[in-house]
Amino acid sequence: LEANFSVIQKEDGSYNGIITVIHDVTEQEKIEQERREFVANVSHELRTPLTSMKSYLEALEDGALHDPTIAPKFLNVAQTETERMIRLVNDLLQLSKMDSKDYRLYLDTIDMTKLLNSVIDRYELVSDNDKIYFHRDIPSHTTFATVDRDKVIQVLDNILSNAIKYSPEGGEISISLKENEKDFSISVNDEGVGIPAENLPQVFDRFYRVDKARSRKLGGTGLGLAIAKQIVSAHGGSIWVSSEWNIGTRITLTLPYSAEKGGE
Ligand code: ADP
Repeated sequence: LEANFSVIQKEDGSYNGIITVIHDVTEQEKIEQERREFVANVSHELRTPLTSMKSYLEALEDGALHDPTIAPKFLNVAQTETERMIRLVNDLLQLSKMDSKDYRLYLDTIDMTKLLNSVIDRYELVSDNDKIYFHRDIPSHTTFATVDRDKVIQVLDNILSNAIKYSPEGGEISISLKENEKDFSISVNDEGVGIPAENLPQVFDRFYRVDKARSRKLGGTGLGLAIAKQIVSAHGGSIWVSSEWNIGTRITLTLPYSAEKGGE
């Protein structure tokens, strides 16, 4: 704690009182520390792909450009790294928008059953080659919900793309939609690598990854679940994870049938 004293003096010079202002320095320091860590993380995340691109471009300049087998591979790496940086910058922009005071939800009443099915359809199409099986436990009737459609799609995208990323070939991903009394819940269950129990509390933190190298190789930014959590809480819902190392992971979220405008 830090205290500042100001003495209040009357016009004739006599003292009237003292004002004491006490700051909670620990809280301020914590925020400052988090900010520093965040900037360091961002710089590091951008430097890694940039350094790698630089060395591939140098190799191309030093002659690899004229090697018909190597050149396309090196250009491909440069392209993949650029795409990852774009994803990272987009994720960062998202988070910064969410952190700002005028963060708004654009609410629409939609059919959640239809929305969830359409997102899964999209993944089912593209992951045909990866031999991932999708199992749906979704009601056949309409489930009305008032939510920010695009943001809910983003949450589902982040969770489903993780389930696919961390699944083995032939793995099954089960998605369920359950209607509860006051809210509805969606859960995504995979048979992937899982998350060790001691790492579970951190997976929603910005930039946190259980296995940094693996996440990078799979194109991750370490921000997907942090963004998902922020969107879900802006809707007044909650999200949590349960997992067993080498068995699989389940992400569950609940959302109220009708979110309030204006977010948190
Ligand atoms: P990333 O872009 O690295 O996937 P996320 O914020 O989406 O970042 O997830 C954070 C970390 O949580 C991941 O790096 C991974 O270690 C772990 N994780 C998330 N989803 C899964 C999953 N379905 N199976 C195993 N690990 C997961």
